Amino acid sequence: MIPGAFSYHRPATVADAVKLLADLGDEARPLAGGHSLIPMMKLRLATPAHLVDLHAVAGLKGISRSGNDVSIGAMTTQHELLASEEIAKSLPILHEAAALIADPQVRYRGTVGGNVANGDPGNDMPALMMTLGATYQLEGPNGRREVGSGEFYQGAYFTALEPGEILTSVTIQVPAAGHGYAYEKLKRKVGDYATAAAAVVLTMAGGKVATCAIGLTNLHETPLLAADAAKAVIGASLDAASLKTAAQAAEAIMSPAADARGPVEYRKHVGGIMVARALQRAAMRAE
Ligand SMILES: Cc1cc2nc3c(=O)[nH]c(=O)nc-3n(C[C@H](O)[C@H](O)[C@H](O)COP(=O)(O)OP(=O)(O)OC[C@H]3O[C@@H](n4cnc5c(N)ncnc54)[C@H](O)[C@@H]3O)c2cc1C
Repeated sequence: MIPGAFSYHRPATVADAVKLLADLGDEARPLAGGHSLIPMMKLRLATPAHLVDLHAVAGLKGISRSGNDVSIGAMTTQHELLASEEIAKSLPILHEAAALIADPQVRYRGTVGGNVANGDPGNDMPALMMTLGATYQLEGPNGRREVGSGEFYQGAYFTALEPGEILTSVTIQVPAAGHGYAYEKLKRKVGDYATAAAAVVLTMAGGKVATCAIGLTNLHETPLLAADAAKAVIGASLDAASLKTAAQAAEAIMSPAADARGPVEYRKHVGGIMVARALQRAAMRAE
């Protein structure tokens, strides 16, 4: 229950944070809200010798819009996402999903950057970011670079972050006006991670799906984009047959772990149901 000993560092700029992480090497980890890292440290599944706290780093917080792009600073909390009128208006799927993460105590501390950089397949934000085509801004010893959310996740807890790099912000293009959206998450109880979850962003034209993206949470060692499932519904009205085809196409790429949330077959089955429900609800919301 008590983490191992560590040194605590509190840099004031991104450059200082990056330098600390680069100098301290493998033994150092950035600390954001601490709601994934500290529990891992208490279980001794993570034993960093140095924590580089990002809370005092200037410029890592806040939500802003420039033209059609919304930028979210890495240290913006999940609670701040929920409180943001810009998010509610421009990216309502993020608002819907943030409300399904854990409980208010976790959301007051947990950050967007921590959620997407963590690499835990159970985190909800990564699949959403992939569904929305988000781009991540990274800064490290070799300068700044951008990585698409679709290229960021490489395995459970393995991401495109290089040693010493931190994620500074996430940029998302606002989906088309009148788009439909839904995040369907099955969990055992309030506050739990997803047994299976699906994100859908779509547009409709003449009663048929015109564009569609589908993301999957906790159904593989990384978040997934269900491209074939999305393709299956484009040009179709969402009747029982097309929903079934989409659910089956999504299930075909799922490979969840068997764990306390259920055996593999069960999780794939409910994963398909989440896809069908999210498609239906997104279509109802589309204008
Ligand atoms: C009871 C409970 C229930 C939860 N349920 C859910 C849930 O249903 N869905 C969900 O998505 N999450 C859930 N969480 C996790 C929560 O959302 C975490 O806050 C989130 O996963 C990590 O964000 P953080 O800011 O707390 O990051 P931290 O815990 O501080 O960091 C997590 C990891 O990311 C790294 N990191 C953090 N910020 C950066 C950065 N800017 N750049 C590079 N690396 C960085 C850290 O070094 C660490 O390895 C739950 C947590 C608890 C305690």
